[in-house]
Amino acid sequence: RPRVLSGIQPTAGSFHLGNYLGAVRQWVALQESHDAFYMVVDLHAITVPQDPADLRANTRLAAAQLLAAGLDPDRCTLFVQSHVPEHAQLAWVMNCLTGFGEASRMTQFKDKAAKQGADRASVGLFTYPILQVADILLYQANEVPVGEDQRQHVELTRDLAERFNGRFGATFTVPKPYILKETAKIYDLQDPAIKMSKSASTPKGLINLLDEPKATAKKVKSAVTDTDTVIRYDAEHKPGVSNLLTIYSTLTGRTIAELEQEYEGKMYGALKTDLADVMVDFVTPFRERTQQYLDDSETLDSILAKGAEKARAVAAETLSQAYERVGFLPAK
Ligand code: ATP
Ligand code: MG
Repeated sequence: RPRVLSGIQPTAGSFHLGNYLGAVRQWVALQESHDAFYMVVDLHAITVPQDPADLRANTRLAAAQLLAAGLDPDRCTLFVQSHVPEHAQLAWVMNCLTGFGEASRMTQFKDKAAKQGADRASVGLFTYPILQVADILLYQANEVPVGEDQRQHVELTRDLAERFNGRFGATFTVPKPYILKETAKIYDLQDPAIKMSKSASTPKGLINLLDEPKATAKKVKSAVTDTDTVIRYDAEHKPGVSNLLTIYSTLTGRTIAELEQEYEGKMYGALKTDLADVMVDFVTPFRERTQQYLDDSETLDSILAKGAEKARAVAAETLSQAYERVGFLPAK
């Protein structure tokens, strides 16, 4: 079975709709066909300041949401990044193979550093794409299911895997991004020019899966559209409506063409009201399942402990090969 690896940050607490449609939904599907490793990336979370108690709670909460979304610990390996020290260890090696200019070109860093104020951005934020390289290479992943915003980091991973292999001999699998075109980028409901994001969206533009379903319905109903009246998919000229159609289509399994036909001659309000219902039907059981996993923290922690053990077995083997190739003297 080909292998997949991906991760999600335990930052804002609730996952948002972009996380789910762009990434987590694919993770659930891929556990059927792939040897799948999924993690809560707490090391990535501390690239920006985190309250320790919140970070701990949000790490459990992220794991609970992944299980609620349909990850099955019998069919995938679910773990917390900091439980597997090899991530930080291989990241150092990869840091030393990366050019300063190369790292400076990462657009996610530039965006996030600009938001923080350049002086306040941490060195960790600067090198986080390289930690991500290590995350992926440790598991010899063939594919990396992520949203469009992560494409550049998977490209960097490919470059560094090839560089390492070229310099030290074949060691790492060169991975490919797994990005579904339709849901690669879910947009902010208030500003359909930017991606929905934990760190950049305003509350009204962001659909948090764990919000009160009523609040979610309200946000859908007040989504920004355009001054036209036709319900039609046209990402360039009608980004707001197109985003709503994408969300509607993915959550219901109906094609965009079907939806365009159904809403022919109808008003935007009708589309939004129906989509609000679809959304409520989706988030209501999701919230309940998440709460059930949270309430049984013993089971949750034991799932994560088993996941870490399985992950470490793979990661330790890759790391020891990489260390040997680099020329580190084995500890006897
Ligand atoms: P941050 O803004 O802090 O980076 P985020 O909203 O991007 O947070 P992450 O934990 O960084 O969330 O991303 C988890 C996964 O969700 C990644 O694979 C990312 O590509 C995907 N993702 C995030 N936002 C979107 C979006 N708007 N559309 C599609 N996929 C997304
Ligand atoms: Mg992100």
